[in-house]
Amino acid sequence: MAKKKRTYNTRRIKRNLSYTVQEVAELYGLHKNVVLRWIKDGLPVIDGRKPYLIYGVDLADYLDGRQKRRKQKCAPDEFYCCKCRAPRKAWENQADIVIKNESKLSVSALCAVCDTVLHRMGAVKKLAEYQKIFSIQTIQGPHITDRASPSVMCDIRKENRT
Ligand SMILES: [Zn+2]
Repeated sequence: MAKKKRTYNTRRIKRNLSYTVQEVAELYGLHKNVVLRWIKDGLPVIDGRKPYLIYGVDLADYLDGRQKRRKQKCAPDEFYCCKCRAPRKAWENQADIVIKNESKLSVSALCAVCDTVLHRMGAVKKLAEYQKIFSIQTIQGPHITDRASPSVMCDIRKENRT
């Protein structure tokens, strides 16, 4: 399981001030390295120069953006619905699985809210997990056709020889 990330109250940031890395760290009781990681991750610094200075408004935007992105992330039993523009659960928790290759599969379902077809990619090794989460209706895989074709080829070649 992923670590639960903390939420930063961006109302504590004075948007018209600039902050040093140390000040940002102190504002939230963080280690300086956390703030340096944010800078690496895209938090803008003034003039890109050291020692870093960060505009309060940039810091607030950065943290708000991060926290918004995180909220949009789907739970294991959710799909991102492009019509609802939000993570949604599958209708009746029913889903179909199509195995694409030995590592990837796709899970599809209907949006519980608007009936739009939803898809998400998943890992074949997590198949058992999906079967626990969803009521799986069908599982289709490429293995049937993949295995059939080489033997068909062999048969043709054999026939040509005789
Ligand atoms: Zn929807």
